[in-house]
Amino acid sequence: MRATVMYGAGDVRVENVPDASLVEPTDALVRVTHACICGSDLWPYKTMERSDAGRHMGHEAIGIVEDVGADVRTLKQGDLVVMPFAFSDGTCVFCRDGLQTSCVHGGFFGTEDVAGAQADAVRVPQADGTLVVLPVDEDDALMPSLLTLSDVMGTGHHAAVAGHVGPGKTAAVVGDGAVGLCGVIAAKRLGAEQIIILGRHPDRIALAREFGATDVVSERGDEAIERVRDLTDGFGVHSVLECVGLEQSELTAIEIARPGGAVGRVGVPQDEAMPASQPAFYNNVSVSGGPAPVRAYIEELLPDILEGKIEPGRVLDRVIGLDEAPDGYRAMNDREAIKVMIEP
Ligand SMILES: [Zn+2]
Repeated sequence: MRATVMYGAGDVRVENVPDASLVEPTDALVRVTHACICGSDLWPYKTMERSDAGRHMGHEAIGIVEDVGADVRTLKQGDLVVMPFAFSDGTCVFCRDGLQTSCVHGGFFGTEDVAGAQADAVRVPQADGTLVVLPVDEDDALMPSLLTLSDVMGTGHHAAVAGHVGPGKTAAVVGDGAVGLCGVIAAKRLGAEQIIILGRHPDRIALAREFGATDVVSERGDEAIERVRDLTDGFGVHSVLECVGLEQSELTAIEIARPGGAVGRVGVPQDEAMPASQPAFYNNVSVSGGPAPVRAYIEELLPDILEGKIEPGRVLDRVIGLDEAPDGYRAMNDREAIKVMIEP
């Protein structure tokens, strides 16, 4: 089968590799019908040290169950399933708390241990806990939106939940990538009255407005902080969704939260230390968030997609075949595309 392998910064290849197969009795083998490239795949694309073995990329997918291990109970051959970016057993203490990204038997796709989903097929560990059967056909027009349940829609929703978005509140979304745009959808869906998007790419800002953003701040640094305060009676917002992960964006996120406000972080932090410790302290700003337990949110978000109430699939603005994956990485890295969908 074909798989997308990264060997170092800027070096992505589609290669023939040994077929994915069942290893554990709790595994499922899934033929990938739709996958995508993630903003977080761009970090190694920029910085990865050269590796002879390479890293098999991809952690978002929809596909058809081809085979299941002897202990799999809830899935059968032919099921169309969506795969969260982390696998989880669904039964441990953290899964029962809705924090599947901390599952004691869990892990992540596209790592050294578990191969990625930008491939013809993927082995899914802990299949019963991980996969969710979709009640549609694989050629359904909703497929791009359903694919975002793998990561970006659930991650944007997690930022909103961690940022305590609620009815009538003010919210700001830092970052206009696919997760930030889904964060706008999530903030609106949870009832935020004012939604300020911090970003500067015209096409993404236009989409953010369609998703429900009420204000746009394209400045950076201190100017951005001033602008958000100007838009909120000088106080800042109740809820900040931090969807970037750089020192500057984390600093801005804390500085634009109003006293007693909350920052929900989902941008993978690129530094060891968190900035703005003192402003967070003096303003009683709570900072939470982390790897989104997107598996926990699928049942809540799926009906809104099926009913057409939300359209997160619009962030997938380019579709390519698997062989074009290297160019898909380049296009996302060059900001020609917001997010790239792969149809193997
Ligand atoms: Zn678990």
